[in-house]
Amino acid sequence: MSRTLCARWTIAPAIAPRPLINCNRCGGFKPYRCGEKFRVNANGKRIDVWLIYRCVDCDNSWNFTVLERRNRRDIEPALLTALESNDPAFVRRYAFDGAMLRNRAGRIEEFPDVTVRKELLDGEPSGAAALALELRLEGTTPLRLDRLLAGELGLSRSRLHALDDRKRLTVEPDGARALRKPVRDGLAVRIDLAGDADCSAVLSAACR
Ligand SMILES: [Zn+2]
Repeated sequence: MSRTLCARWTIAPAIAPRPLINCNRCGGFKPYRCGEKFRVNANGKRIDVWLIYRCVDCDNSWNFTVLERRNRRDIEPALLTALESNDPAFVRRYAFDGAMLRNRAGRIEEFPDVTVRKELLDGEPSGAAALALELRLEGTTPLRLDRLLAGELGLSRSRLHALDDRKRLTVEPDGARALRKPVRDGLAVRIDLAGDADCSAVLSAACR
């Protein structure tokens, strides 16, 4: 039996980031919430698509540019249909793309709330002494890696940092100080728990 329990966590931000827009109706920077609707504008062969946001206080609108002056020929018909029908999966894909939103709006506010879907890939909690985690992130999150691991594994953050100091916890490809940084897609975390009394409880939590 494998001595390492391998699991994949798919992390989905629960609350969409909000752009902070200098509202020309209220005056001053205000968060704008996603209206979950696209606006598709066809001007001859040129297509523009925006995701519409509204000021939380006055309902003024702001357009998040999704496609800009694109030739209709270059857009997959299925994509255009999805955008025109406000397909929730596409709304989510753009609304949770914090990097693109920050790029367009300048300032955004993000929320650390996430849902975590855990899959066991190999091994069993009772027989293993180490944990290997693959992290997948849908979108972006400000949630720090140590907070994610502490919350999901039932370990204190000071314990995680102590494991890190003794090289019993490693993170690839980020390495040093990765625990204090926001979770990113593609991180691989390895924790050696051999000899620790709570080993099987931690490993059970990793896939439950
Ligand atoms: Zn406003």
